[in-house]
Amino acid sequence: NLSDKLESVFRKLRGQGRLTEEDVGEALREVRLVLLEADVNFKVVKDFVAAVRERALGQDVLKSLTPAQQVIKIVRDELARLMGDGVDNHLDLTARPPVGIMLCGLQGSGKTTTCGKLALSLRRDKRNPLLVPADVYRPAAIEQLKTLGRQLGVTVYESLPGQDPVRICEDARRYAELNGFDTLIFDTAGRLHIDDELMGELDRIKASLKPREILFVADAMTGQDAVNVAQSFNERLDVTGIVLTKLDGDARGGAALSIRAVTGKPIKFVGLGEKLDALDVFHADRMAQRILGMGDVLTLIEKAEAAIDKENAAEMEKRLRKEGFTLENFRDQLQSIKKMGSMESILKMIPGAGKQMKQLKDLQMPDKELKKIEAIISSMTPQERRDHRILNGSRRMRIAKGSGTTVHDINVLVKRFSEAQKMMKKMQKLGPKGMKNLMRG
Ligand code: GDP
Ligand code: MG
Repeated sequence: NLSDKLESVFRKLRGQGRLTEEDVGEALREVRLVLLEADVNFKVVKDFVAAVRERALGQDVLKSLTPAQQVIKIVRDELARLMGDGVDNHLDLTARPPVGIMLCGLQGSGKTTTCGKLALSLRRDKRNPLLVPADVYRPAAIEQLKTLGRQLGVTVYESLPGQDPVRICEDARRYAELNGFDTLIFDTAGRLHIDDELMGELDRIKASLKPREILFVADAMTGQDAVNVAQSFNERLDVTGIVLTKLDGDARGGAALSIRAVTGKPIKFVGLGEKLDALDVFHADRMAQRILGMGDVLTLIEKAEAAIDKENAAEMEKRLRKEGFTLENFRDQLQSIKKMGSMESILKMIPGAGKQMKQLKDLQMPDKELKKIEAIISSMTPQERRDHRILNGSRRMRIAKGSGTTVHDINVLVKRFSEAQKMMKKMQKLGPKGMKNLMRG
């Protein structure tokens, strides 16, 4: 794993006070090996190492009091630059509606899933997307998109299996014009390998529909292969951006580095899970940090802030002040935690948690746990939720039956809750600013 290895290189550097030119040379040799092993393209690595070396030796880095930190900073900055830091990677949807977004890539890379994720994200931006199934070769593909559409409440254009995909896209555009959809998301077919026939079809869709965005969807787990495929798609279709999926797995950035460098196209989004809200805008600086194993604290905070809707937070504060922390408002907070995505994806962003992920994964089933807690609280009367101290044995038995749990479950929850209540009292003294500082660690 790239970040673990870089971490150990830098631990060595950190251990020493002053650095010599040879120290830097040695560290960079290891960085070079690590990047090559992580499937970063050879030429990209060469340029990268040269750039870092020049900056590390050029300035007064070695003479400074904290040379190791400075070198690490240079590595991080250069990584970020390589991945397009400062480059605009927003979706360009400025054309006259309906604006087209076409997704392309190999089979299994995550096109259909990403179509759903994009639809959700566009809807949150108050747009009105239409999902268009242009993968006609596998009937299951159309069904998959329809299922996503149903989950999201987003319309999926009705096409028939076996129809010409270009024709489907054209008909869908007319349908969108007539029915007030402002964005078209084309879910195209994939193959297991690059295939001339498929490329021809994608070319024709592009020529006829002139989509504003052509996003190449790459599976980050496939390493160097993804880079070659990206290059072929880009040469043929001149894509406008990259979506890097499955970054929640073990793959950590090698593909991001090379695909960006080899195609010269911006990475616009990253996929962080199978769930439909597991799509993040790509941040080069944060990805660089992540590669270095420093954790992605900013993304975490952003997620928390987005989930806990501002008004809700104010409302919650009022309630807390008025009622104190009760099981009732605790349940409402659980909803916010759920909105933040699974606990697992959140834990991954915490510095240092990366290495413990394996153990964490074995230890807990957070989503299941949350559902259980919700069920228990829902089976209580409002009076019990407001004051858990009245929960005697027979009440606990009734609640266990009602929620399909055991009295033991109830006992554990009540115990944990009263601990949380104590903690809340302390945190309320800290205030919201204090909370944030706590999160930033
Ligand atoms: P397509 O053939 O390109 O349309 O790929 P799909 O959208 O059907 O995705 C293939 C598989 O990858 C499915 O099982 C998805 O749930 C999964 N998948 C897609 N994106 C992600 C992601 O970001 N993370 C994870 N873990 N799985 C993903
Ligand atoms: Mg698909």
